[in-house]
Amino acid sequence: MSCSEPEGRGGDPQQTGVVFNIQRFSIEDGPGIRTTVFMKGCPMRCVWCHNPEGIAFERQLMWFDVRCIGARDCLEACPNGALELGRSGMTIDRERCDACGRCADACPARALELVGKDYTPHEAFQEVYRDEAFYRNSGGGVTVSGGEPSMQPRFVAELLRLSKEAGLHTALDTCGFASGTVLEKLLESADMVLLDLKHMDPAKHLELTGVELEPVLENARMVSSSGRPVWVRTPVVPGCTDSAENIASIGRFIAEELPSVERWDLLAFNNTCGSKYSRLDMTWELEGVPLLSAEAMEALAEKARAAGVPEVCWSGTTRSS
Ligand code: SF4
Ligand code: SF4
Repeated sequence: MSCSEPEGRGGDPQQTGVVFNIQRFSIEDGPGIRTTVFMKGCPMRCVWCHNPEGIAFERQLMWFDVRCIGARDCLEACPNGALELGRSGMTIDRERCDACGRCADACPARALELVGKDYTPHEAFQEVYRDEAFYRNSGGGVTVSGGEPSMQPRFVAELLRLSKEAGLHTALDTCGFASGTVLEKLLESADMVLLDLKHMDPAKHLELTGVELEPVLENARMVSSSGRPVWVRTPVVPGCTDSAENIASIGRFIAEELPSVERWDLLAFNNTCGSKYSRLDMTWELEGVPLLSAEAMEALAEKARAAGVPEVCWSGTTRSS
């Protein structure tokens, strides 16, 4: 896959963006209390992705078995005959489903949900601005995340611009695999950047994320040279990214080439997303992979601190022994 500028989604301030979640009171996506706008669509295919609903650009239907009361209104509502409810649950024919949402509207138990909603930049901004007082009191603001926000550059640029114009602190959360030109444009209205660095071995990076490493490193250098404060984030996934060698190698890269990095977050692997995969008819490849221990995370954090990055933090659920 290349990381050239995406076509299509763009044009003017009325350009809609496909958003899969607007999360208020977030405290993990930058400083203070924030609202995080999650954009749909990502060029990476990380095997550990815990937001699989953010990968595809298109809207998708999800069925929640625990909510289903077997009312069957959805089957009648579907104009394409895309649903089948049997003993083993709901089957969604995704070839036939055009994500019209009629089944979700018809379901009295809200067992079907469409993931992905169109917003204009102004509509998204209005959602974000509701919590302005919380941002002001906590040093927070808005973070645009994903998926990968640079996949919908004109919407995101306008949302960041509106937010900044209103005096909100703005953060861009990127996986780094993007057109450098697009990222530069988005940086114009971003006060800071959250940047993922996952693996420093090019072959492993390709195997684990589906994309080349070098464009990510190039963009990391560009973002840092823009002078924007950067928080690097590394998902620590057993058997994938959790070797001391990988952490030391990321640390060396940050210390030697990314002078504007203020903080490095190590995010412990989370295995609670299996149900999301099944609701999307996707395969969760890390089924049964155990959580890391707090001791293992602390040891990796020590390794990271040894690289000389100003602040290293780790977070996430860990197993008790
Ligand atoms: S970059 Fe993030 S959203 Fe994209 S596949 Fe990887 S973990 Fe998922
Ligand atoms: S979203 Fe529309 S096409 Fe898809 S299953 Fe529901 S009613 Fe049918």
